[in-house]
Amino acid sequence: MEDFFNFSLPELEALFKERFSIAPFHARQVFQWVYRKKVRDFELMTDLPSKLRPLLKENFFFSTAEQKARQISSDGTRKYLFGLGENSVESVMIKQPTRMTLCVSSQVGCGMACAFCRTGTMGFIKNLTTSQILQQVEGVINDAVNFGDMFQNIVFMGMGEPLHNFDNVSRAIRILTHQLGFEIGPRRITVSTVGLVPAIKRFGEEKVPANLAVSLNATTDEVRSQIMPINKKYPLSTLIGALKDFPTTKHKKITIEYVMLSGLNDTEADLRRLPKLLHGVAAKINLIPYNDNAGLGFKTPDRDWVHNWQQTLAGRGLEATIRWSKGQDIKAACGQLVTDDKKLSKKSLGYIAPENSVEGSLVV
Ligand code: SAH
Repeated sequence: MEDFFNFSLPELEALFKERFSIAPFHARQVFQWVYRKKVRDFELMTDLPSKLRPLLKENFFFSTAEQKARQISSDGTRKYLFGLGENSVESVMIKQPTRMTLCVSSQVGCGMACAFCRTGTMGFIKNLTTSQILQQVEGVINDAVNFGDMFQNIVFMGMGEPLHNFDNVSRAIRILTHQLGFEIGPRRITVSTVGLVPAIKRFGEEKVPANLAVSLNATTDEVRSQIMPINKKYPLSTLIGALKDFPTTKHKKITIEYVMLSGLNDTEADLRRLPKLLHGVAAKINLIPYNDNAGLGFKTPDRDWVHNWQQTLAGRGLEATIRWSKGQDIKAACGQLVTDDKKLSKKSLGYIAPENSVEGSLVV
């Protein structure tokens, strides 16, 4: 039995042909039924030959994420805990003034060990399958009817390093953007990476239909290596070189994320160095004031200082936006996602157990 959601359309066509001797155009029909019409029962796919339906039923199943918990922040952001087999991951529906952004996870845990990120403390547990990535999207879409809203953008900024799970992330993106799939515009999807240089190159070469964001987070190798171990493997010069080579257009820049850790990477000297470092990169900057993770030993900068950075960068011709934290009261903000950590009690994770959950209880 195969999980239907693990196949892109070309892969499904090949599988139909090679394993089942089914004409590839039937794959297109089924794909459309499943993703466009949301039909998950082969018997209901009325334009398929009747002989084919039992064959498909014997060989494919459709999995759904179990919504184990949902928390709602006072700012309207929602955090979901989805059970995927033996593991759980979090997805966040972020409420912004004019739109909603869905933040999905690509791994259980993360192996990148960034010093300021709570997910990093979990270590790498496993890669999500393509199906498990799509199930988060479906789970949130299905629940959105309860709120009368919908996301406009999807960001791979939840748990995990998406480019460390390249095949599943890129396949999921191809299904999300496919006309017969979820039909989400490529400009509405962003993949964020710590800076895995070979994977960034591959992302460009294979024309994965999504935007690229890179977590830069420092202007010197010394500081970057201290907070992001990956920098020892791919130092700033290598990373920036790859970003200069990355295919961009006037409308498709690389987002440079910069977590501001007060006094460590947000000094006057950093502010002077950043535009020089990014010279020649088609970049727009996203400043992220550090979301406090108690015990990790970093400080959040003052609001005024964050604004000063934004204005100074703008003065140097660098468009910079600020990502103020969302859903901090439910630990749904950047770098605060953590599950399955046996060392942490359920209580300290802040989850509401599904059986006694009171929706909206966190709304203050
Ligand atoms: N592994 C990917 C995607 C997940 S993190 C990456 O590193 O890009 C998404 C963003 O949240 C990254 O830019 C990361 O640097 C940032 N982040 C992690 N912990 C944070 C924290 N405590 N406060 C603010 N941003 C944080």
